[in-house]
Amino acid sequence: MNIKVCKFGGSSVRDSSQIKKVLEIIKKDKNRRVIIVSAPGRDEKFDEKITDHLLNIATNGEHFSKQKIYINIKQSFDSIINKFELLCTELNIDKKIIIEDLKKDLNNTVLKNKKREAFFLSRGEHYNSKIISTFIKNSGLNIKLMLPEDFGFILDDNYCNGKIQTISHQNIKNKFLFQKDEIYLVPGFYGITKDNDISVMSRGGSDLTGGELAYALDADIYENWTDTDGVYEVDPRVIKGANVIPRLTFKELRLLSSKGFNVFHFNAMLNCKKGKIPINIRNTNNPEHKGTLILNERVPMEDLVGIAKLDNMAAIHIQKDMLGDEIGFTAELLKIFGEYNVNTYHYPTDKDDISILVDQEDLKGNINNLRRDIERRLNTNSIYVSYNLSIITLVGIGLRQNTFTIVDAISALKENNISFDMFDMSPSKISFHIGVSQNVSDIALETLYKNLLKI
Ligand code: ASP
Repeated sequence: MNIKVCKFGGSSVRDSSQIKKVLEIIKKDKNRRVIIVSAPGRDEKFDEKITDHLLNIATNGEHFSKQKIYINIKQSFDSIINKFELLCTELNIDKKIIIEDLKKDLNNTVLKNKKREAFFLSRGEHYNSKIISTFIKNSGLNIKLMLPEDFGFILDDNYCNGKIQTISHQNIKNKFLFQKDEIYLVPGFYGITKDNDISVMSRGGSDLTGGELAYALDADIYENWTDTDGVYEVDPRVIKGANVIPRLTFKELRLLSSKGFNVFHFNAMLNCKKGKIPINIRNTNNPEHKGTLILNERVPMEDLVGIAKLDNMAAIHIQKDMLGDEIGFTAELLKIFGEYNVNTYHYPTDKDDISILVDQEDLKGNINNLRRDIERRLNTNSIYVSYNLSIITLVGIGLRQNTFTIVDAISALKENNISFDMFDMSPSKISFHIGVSQNVSDIALETLYKNLLKI
């Protein structure tokens, strides 16, 4: 059977007019048989996501106050109730039982700590799925609501960062039988522990629910419906008129997303990659657009598919005579960064020098002690830190065959008088990184885009 698993994110289900678009999308293709929905995302009237309001109540207002957002728990409570009441009214659904149950859940005082947080966090998906499935059923489709607690979507007891347990895949196979024209609707993000407590995955976790269902059911495709036409060649906020990439591999997306392209939850790709299930990023607001297909393999028609840019980076240059000959030097150095919880991105190295590229945010409050530890433990000659760098990453599996693209990139920068601080080719040869000063990074990106990607 050709099954399409479709996940609709928060922006696609944030209000009644979006939910009506979801219905049209489902109706358009009878293979869309498994639908996963998020909690309502931000809209014009409600500035914060419902999930954040829920977490705010669970944490007694700490969730917003920590971010200097002044919304107290009473306001969060009212926002949640108003949102779901409005959805019911506008979608013509009897709200009595739904709102009564929701209020009961929001007044829960029995659960404590992480169990309480996980339970509250899950309620957005839980009630939104009830409302959306009722609305779709009323339109005449044979839709069945499948709650994680009913079909056995089992997570470990990490509560707010739950990981799927493999037994869930068999449970899904046993319960999703696709009788006649049956369509299934599943709330994303949450599951249950083996002791029947609610547990949620990490934030953005509805993507993960979709990935697990697609894998377990060996779906033909996993459609990820969101509010953008797909993955862009370059950040469209910086480069107006940038195109959507029609096809790219998991590896290419991984390289782009770790460098500032935030498309969707990376872990959701792992199972799809394992099961060779293509992921299709689609736009709920522009359903005619074919979006971006993410595949295990593709014919490398073009050398380059995308250019990502990561700002606010710092490079720590370390100099010590003959460090390249000192066994264990780099291991010890990286260990020190690990002790300060600083993630290291790249480390170009030479006989007497090494540079470590990090997110400069991670150095806040750390740099003084980090430098002192490196100096003392590794007996270095000098350490120099450059701040406000941007790393521009060019990605494409075709680069492996055509390494001269690198020459074109450097020539384009030269012609525009843009100097660079760092250059590094990845071992896989499908991406290379150019470090430039942040104040010229937008110009550098535009130059590379115009010379290498724009047709
Ligand atoms: N509602 C959850 C969140 O905001 C999960 C999701 O939308 O995927 O993180």
